[in-house]
Amino acid sequence: MKYFTTTKKGSAVSFFDAVLSNMASDGSLFMPEFAPVLSSGFFQSLPKLSFHEMTFEVLWPFVKESFSKNTLAEVVEKAFTFDAPLVTLTNDLYVLELFHGPTAAFKDFGVRFLAQVLLQLQQYQEKELTILTATSGDTGGAVADAFFNMPGIQAFILYPKEKVSALQELQIASLGGNIHALEVDGSFDDCQRLVKWAFHDPEIKAKRNLSSANSINIARLLPQSCYYLRGWAQLNNPNATPSFSVPSGNFGNVTAGLLAKEMGLPCSGFMAATNSNDTVPRYMRSGVYAPAPLRETISNAMDITDPSNFVRAQTLAHNDLSQLKETLTSIAFSEEETRTAIHEVYSRYEYIVDPHTAISYLGAKTLKSLPRICLSTAHPIKFAPTIEMILERSIEPPQQVKDLFNKRKITRRIKPTQVLVKEVLLG
Ligand SMILES: *Cc1c(COP(=O)(O)O)cnc(C)c1O
Repeated sequence: MKYFTTTKKGSAVSFFDAVLSNMASDGSLFMPEFAPVLSSGFFQSLPKLSFHEMTFEVLWPFVKESFSKNTLAEVVEKAFTFDAPLVTLTNDLYVLELFHGPTAAFKDFGVRFLAQVLLQLQQYQEKELTILTATSGDTGGAVADAFFNMPGIQAFILYPKEKVSALQELQIASLGGNIHALEVDGSFDDCQRLVKWAFHDPEIKAKRNLSSANSINIARLLPQSCYYLRGWAQLNNPNATPSFSVPSGNFGNVTAGLLAKEMGLPCSGFMAATNSNDTVPRYMRSGVYAPAPLRETISNAMDITDPSNFVRAQTLAHNDLSQLKETLTSIAFSEEETRTAIHEVYSRYEYIVDPHTAISYLGAKTLKSLPRICLSTAHPIKFAPTIEMILERSIEPPQQVKDLFNKRKITRRIKPTQVLVKEVLLG
């Protein structure tokens, strides 16, 4: 498998090169040159396969020029230490829980796979690898956990002071060792700006072999296609063609679903449900792509106005809007609707959803084709203050975050200046 970029300029590269360069020099994103179609035998055996066996089969064609079978088996075993269970709300409405990883959000699937891939590739590199990432919350925790104690790798995570939850901060900043948490006295945009600048600074580049762990890396996208297949398999009905609702911010998750469909996933379509940051829903209606100013919402991991992975979804539909509309619909939901949905799911099904999953549920309700599967991207504990206020009850922390509350943070506070970032990185 070779990887092209979304602009189709330049020559195709290997998986190895696509992962290490993160994106092409013109800023476009890597995509596999085709979607390898899974056999009918694979789908027959799918309900019996373990998560590791399934991810191995699905991912093998994408990496076989860069890895041996043993290496991929090791990568998926170490990356996916958790599963994606399907929970029944009614006999035509299901929740695919993607939050059973160590940081209680679905980002663990993509980030942990990327980390294991980089660890393998690092064996062929002489220089130590430095992961440099800006986070608004969930990515930082997943990066810290996934890269912790990896030999030959250091990770620097910039997060905005007081803009991430206490739980998210402990996930980023309580590990220490090779994980360096930088609490930036500024906004998420400041963090992103500093990271972008550092990637281009000649002195930093001379000293450090920099890589990013953000969602435009192809190694974060590919493993996400797997859990759609896992969701389908758990319906235990070989004739089922479910529709999927996906709470969308940067549109990586839903793009992985579209890719799974190209690989043969039986499904009748996708709903990309957004919060009031509605660039894509407006685009799908009008054909005009016009990002509006950012709106802060309670589903803050989706507060994105110019989703970087949407171009990949367009590439899969050959840049033809009407073709895209055949498989994808997109609707925006307000804060009021989100809060009401959290209530509704709890009172109807005694099930607690976080604000992102609430939007997923709202999207699922609009789908005509049954059964419907809504993807749940975070455990409600990650947004406990909001949910506890709305439902007027407390939330039981799951095992993987219980211990965190006894830890203390090890962080370095910096003002958002290039000089200070340079000092830390050259330090
Ligand atoms: C990142 C995130 C999303 C958005 O996913 P995309 O792939 O960027 O569309 C949704 N929900 C949660 C909880 C997230 O952390």
